[in-house]
Amino acid sequence: MIEKPFYRPRRLRKNHILRDLVKETYLSKNDLIYPIFIAEKENIKEEINSMPEIYRQSIDYAMEEINNAKEKGIKSFLLFGIPNNKDDIASSAYDDEGVIQKSLRKIKKNIKDIVLITDVCNCEYTSHGHCGIIKNNDVDNDSTLDLLVKTSLSHARAGADIIAPSDMMDGRIFNIRKALNENGFENIPIMSYSAKFSSFFYGPFREAAQSNPSFGDRKTYQIDYRNSNEAVFESKLDIEEGADIIMVKPALSYCDIIYKIKQELKRPLAAYNVSGEYSMVKAASSKGWVDENKLVLEILYSIKRAGADMIITYHAYKIADYIE
Ligand SMILES: [Zn+2]
Repeated sequence: MIEKPFYRPRRLRKNHILRDLVKETYLSKNDLIYPIFIAEKENIKEEINSMPEIYRQSIDYAMEEINNAKEKGIKSFLLFGIPNNKDDIASSAYDDEGVIQKSLRKIKKNIKDIVLITDVCNCEYTSHGHCGIIKNNDVDNDSTLDLLVKTSLSHARAGADIIAPSDMMDGRIFNIRKALNENGFENIPIMSYSAKFSSFFYGPFREAAQSNPSFGDRKTYQIDYRNSNEAVFESKLDIEEGADIIMVKPALSYCDIIYKIKQELKRPLAAYNVSGEYSMVKAASSKGWVDENKLVLEILYSIKRAGADMIITYHAYKIADYIE
């Protein structure tokens, strides 16, 4: 004769109303940030091969997409620029007439009640595709800081709501914070890509932003994926240097890092559900192997459950129809 169980966790799973009553994790459209690739070229809207339904598009089309996303309830956007001209010193990154600067002014003028976050880095703007100035075949930290400060100030002048440096140079948050403060932008928050790993999940993004390094890799500045204490240390440093929001990138294979950083630092935390994570879902669903929407919800909930407060995701636009 079997013993009847005394504890029955299944009691609270009996129907969806009960399950909703006891759910521990919340996901809302307020948590999502939608990345947008803006090309300086006029009149183009090209779908990115490895990222179905994501476009490289000129400012007007980008505005249209932001408007449509806003109507669905997405309010925060992360902007990446694809300039017409690239050179060794990324000069179009900090040009007040650069693609992001022009876009910021135009979007701000035409669309209200949204938050525009700008990615600050050099790799989309350098001819060699690295995130900074090259010296001795490697990215030179300190001379790159100067470019990052110039780009941040230029974005702030053009109307950015949040500055998001993604380069992983040492000391950049301190220098950007100081420059923003000294130039009357003390109220503009910094979202730091504080724990950005050297990852193969970025492949499709590099096609999108045309930022593949022409030699070497980014291992001398991005974190080794075998480490987690280092990610906590990097994030702690960025908070001390003045970051308002910290970030873990990628997200899905790094939920342990999200959990650890949230537990230890207890600061606003973003997770970047990156291009490779997006493309894997799209590829499998296009073959009919998975249910895309259900899988995306599970992924986004997992990232929130790990401890992220907000998620940067290419799924934002589509999944907005399925969450509150
Ligand atoms: Zn970069």
